[in-house]
Amino acid sequence: MAQQDPIEWALSEALRRAATVTDGTVADYIPELAHTDPELFGIAAVGRRGRRFRAGDAEAQFTIQSISKPFVYAMVLAERGEDHVHDRVGFEPSGEPFNAISLDERGRPANPMINAGAIVTTALVEGAGLDERFERLRGTLSAFAGRPLELDDAVYRSESITGHRNRALASLALAAGVLEGTVEDATELYFRQCALRVTTSDLAAMAATLANGGTNPVTGESVVGELVARNTLSLMASCGMYDHAGEWMYRVGMPAKSGVGGGIVAVRPGQFGVGVFSPRLDRAGNSARGVAALTLLSQTFDLHLLGA
Ligand code: GLU
Repeated sequence: MAQQDPIEWALSEALRRAATVTDGTVADYIPELAHTDPELFGIAAVGRRGRRFRAGDAEAQFTIQSISKPFVYAMVLAERGEDHVHDRVGFEPSGEPFNAISLDERGRPANPMINAGAIVTTALVEGAGLDERFERLRGTLSAFAGRPLELDDAVYRSESITGHRNRALASLALAAGVLEGTVEDATELYFRQCALRVTTSDLAAMAATLANGGTNPVTGESVVGELVARNTLSLMASCGMYDHAGEWMYRVGMPAKSGVGGGIVAVRPGQFGVGVFSPRLDRAGNSARGVAALTLLSQTFDLHLLGA
């Protein structure tokens, strides 16, 4: 019998142990997300030299949702520069849920990882018209993943029909003078970015690109520069896990970002990226089994960044 790769064995073990977690519910405030199979559970990792490891439903497709935020942030940071971006969005963890009305004393959303800040960030993607801007955004996220990512039209439409709270957040940002363009364009572009379809293998490659200073280790393409990758990881470390970001850093100790589709990316800078997917979410909106699997991996392999 062929011997299992030791890293894939460790990933399978993390899935097996984390599968004992049965709490959490699939997001349904975007109606289309409620149709996801709650039992899907997959994990993948990509190393700094581009080696790929998988276990479970690693090739199941789901929508990227908020995991798109750090990658779009990296894109606009590279294109528009730090001053332009951070005149409009802050650096601080909000300690509040992802869809909170959270503006600082200058009227800026607290950070680019919560919805208000992500919409302001997305509004900075350049191009002539919405379709061209989306194609540019899709092109950059695809370069992070190392393959062309496609739009899940049903999820996009479902959020576009129901996303009134996000439109309200965009309106507040417009009133505060920090949103470029119109509320309609910013939110439509944001809804499309959230509805891009990925697998955990894609997420692992995207995370590994950040781990590798902005160069995709599978394709060799330089997607963003080293400083942009580092700055993106900094905000993921402090703000990536919704109102659970502090406890996440304490227990797991890796920059990460989760999405309501059930995905999580985590990065061990200089070494590898991991993607995990399980649709049932805990109270903070993070994948319950995904958090359990990454916590186990961090503890078993001493992945905490602040460890000696
Ligand atoms: N598209 C979702 C929203 O804005 C993303 C939320 C998330 O993944 O945190 O509500």
